[in-house]
Amino acid sequence: MNIYIDFDDCLCETARSFSDLVEKMFGKIVPYEQVQFFNLQKSYDLNDEQYEKMMLAGHTPEALLSIEETPGASETINSWIDEGHDVSIITGRPSSAFDASRKWLDQHGLERVKLYCLNKYGRDNFIKNSEFNLELEDYYKMHFDYAIEDSPLAFKFFDHLPDLKVLVFDRPWNQEAELPGDGYKRCTDWKMIKSIVG
Ligand SMILES: [Mg+2]
Repeated sequence: MNIYIDFDDCLCETARSFSDLVEKMFGKIVPYEQVQFFNLQKSYDLNDEQYEKMMLAGHTPEALLSIEETPGASETINSWIDEGHDVSIITGRPSSAFDASRKWLDQHGLERVKLYCLNKYGRDNFIKNSEFNLELEDYYKMHFDYAIEDSPLAFKFFDHLPDLKVLVFDRPWNQEAELPGDGYKRCTDWKMIKSIVG
């Protein structure tokens, strides 16, 4: 099987780390549970300048490497690889974050997964003028049997795969999202994901 896994808030607790950062940088207290929108500028109520500063600070190697793993992620992924499945991490992080992201994976026992940066969210949602190492054209040539994703904004990247099973990682910002089809299932943790994929 081929498995697509998103990085932030699937493999690791990015929003929790951003909540800490926003408190440190701007004194704003917005706990993870209150991160209601996938748009972090809106969730943390930041102006454009603050948002840009936060995104830059949040994407330094130190910040990226310090993000905690979501419990059970690497153990589950390694069990799939041991069984011969192919796992690709498809992240919306820009390629400027590639090396630190690769290092994070290696440090968490995920040396064997592939990592790709795909422009999932467009410029407005991310660091300006970012570059990505996976072209859309090449992404659409890839085939997946399962996808693990937390962001409703990324669901459009699954439209071309009618048999794909999408496991939506349950997060505060996707509670209201309508799941686009029967192939979608909300999952509360990696234990549940493992029980579905096998
Ligand atoms: Mg994510």
